[in-house]
Amino acid sequence: MVEHLTENQGVTGSSPVLPTNRMPSYSPTVIRRSDPTRVEIEWSDGGKTAFTAAQLRGLCPCAGCVSETTGRRMIDPAQVAADMRQTELTMVGNYAISMRFSDGHHTGIYTFEYLRQNDPRGS
Ligand SMILES: [Zn+2]
Repeated sequence: MVEHLTENQGVTGSSPVLPTNRMPSYSPTVIRRSDPTRVEIEWSDGGKTAFTAAQLRGLCPCAGCVSETTGRRMIDPAQVAADMRQTELTMVGNYAISMRFSDGHHTGIYTFEYLRQNDPRGS
């Protein structure tokens, strides 16, 4: 028999408020709206992601933009106006952001994981 360390070894009873060690790359440190057509996110691991409002509008994951039954996107990101603006960006819990777009759309909830995975530069 090979002896393994038990998983619980070294774990104390008190858990940290923010388990940052569990999801380091999906924790933003800064969310910057340097201008109305852009959102920039700096991550706790030093990475940076920049979206245009039009890109975010095209990525909208809400039920009105993506069919819940087929997963098919109902809006074509290429059809989104390039001068799309975002306003009223708000935090949703500590895991996502929500915003209103200049076309009135505001039902999308963008989790940080989703945003990082859809980085337009693919990083
Ligand atoms: Zn939507």
